[in-house]
Amino acid sequence: MKGKVNSAADALSRADDMEKCKEREPTIVIPANSFLNRVLLDSNTTITKIRESQGRFPMTEKEDQEGGIYQKVIDLDGGATVRRRKSNEAIIPSNDEELKCYLMEIHHDHPTAGHPGRDESLKILKTHYYWPQMTKWIEQYIQGCATCQESKILTHRPKTPLYKIPVPE
Ligand SMILES: [Zn+2]
Repeated sequence: MKGKVNSAADALSRADDMEKCKEREPTIVIPANSFLNRVLLDSNTTITKIRESQGRFPMTEKEDQEGGIYQKVIDLDGGATVRRRKSNEAIIPSNDEELKCYLMEIHHDHPTAGHPGRDESLKILKTHYYWPQMTKWIEQYIQGCATCQESKILTHRPKTPLYKIPVPE
C-alpha cells in the first residue's frame, strides 16, 4: 500500500518537472510555419545585426565601384541599410559567416521554419538578402544540416506498414 502511495507521489513530482520544462518554452503560441511567426523572428534583431555587420565589413572599393548595384537606403525605421539598388535585398557582407549562419538558423533551422528544402530555402533567403555566391553557400549549408540529411534517409527507406492486421491462427 505504502509503495503505491510513493510511486504516485513520484509520478506527481515527475509531472511537476515536466511542467517546469514547459514553462521555459515561449508563452506566445503561434502555429508553426506561419508567416506571422517568421515576421516576429525576423524583426528588428535581424536588421540590426545586418547593419552592424555592414558597418564592420564596409563595401570594398570594387563593390562600391560596381556601384550602381549597391546603395545605402534609409529604411522605414529611419536606419540606413546597404541594399541592392533595384531589388532591395539587404547586402550580407561575404566575410560574415556568423551572420549567414544566423539567417539560416531563423529561416531554415528554427522549428517555425521547419527545415524547408533547397529550393524553398533559397527562395526565402533570396527575397530578403543578397551575398555573392549565396546559392552555393546555402546548398552547402543544407547538405551539412544533420536534420535535413536524416529526413532524406528516412524518406528513402522502404515503407513499412504501421501495424500488422492480425491473422487468425
Ligand atoms: Zn535542415
